[in-house]
Amino acid sequence: MLPKGSPRSLHQAHAAGADILPIASPLEALQIAQASPHREVVFFAAGFETTIAPVASLLVEGIPENLSILLSGRLTWPAVSLLLSGEAPGFNALVAPGHVATVMGPEEWSFIVEQHHIPAAVAGFTTESLLAATYSVIRQYLDNRLFLDNCYPELVRPGGNPSARAHLNQALNVVDANWRGIGIIPNSGYALNRDYVHSDARKRFPDYDVPERMRAGMMPPGCDCSEVVLGRKYPNQCRLYGEACTPRSPIGPCMVSDEGACRIWWSGGIRNRKMSLPD
Ligand code: SF4
Repeated sequence: MLPKGSPRSLHQAHAAGADILPIASPLEALQIAQASPHREVVFFAAGFETTIAPVASLLVEGIPENLSILLSGRLTWPAVSLLLSGEAPGFNALVAPGHVATVMGPEEWSFIVEQHHIPAAVAGFTTESLLAATYSVIRQYLDNRLFLDNCYPELVRPGGNPSARAHLNQALNVVDANWRGIGIIPNSGYALNRDYVHSDARKRFPDYDVPERMRAGMMPPGCDCSEVVLGRKYPNQCRLYGEACTPRSPIGPCMVSDEGACRIWWSGGIRNRKMSLPD
């Protein structure tokens, strides 16, 4: 059991005196480790394929002895596959993430059409691309002519980014992974492979990799984030939405990040539990 009062978040650890710095790129972790060769530096790398590819490149290119990686990398398509394999998903079309497709290639999303017979289009973070993808999936649905449309061709190329994929394959293994509030999804996470085990923070500091810490990071009581991210509930169907949970005092992860569903609804002007989207 974790001792009473132990920090349960990076924020709490920082407040308790731990030396924790937010960084914007893996290169900054490298620079910090190189600048302090006598200190152990742990780089907590969390994210999806797009974020993890540069971490893999860093490992392949070589990192100093005093730098280790605490990896929490996830693949996006297995979570979508889980969603589509369960009960009726509650939507008729899917817009796939263009930033992931720039790395992994658009082909990774063809299972949506081929196995689940749902219109799909890859879109990037531009108004034009999002509108094109929305138009494409509606047109596919109405015409009953399904295919995976690449609406972000400026950056998404067949096969993705070969060099990024090579580095991912060289440094990391794909493993079963726990998704907070959802559980284990097979083949949905990244772990350092045995050639890089000396740089794995979980191996270097095994005392910290205990189940109690994982339990401490579980979804807060009353938070419906897992239902929200799986599309089974709208954010304001959570009984904490706009009451106990707001951007100023977030309870769950969906209200913390700008990309979280609850935060997006809040920013879009839906401020209470009674408001609903038009049918
Ligand atoms: S982030 Fe807040 S509003 Fe969203 S599901 Fe969790 S508790 Fe509810």
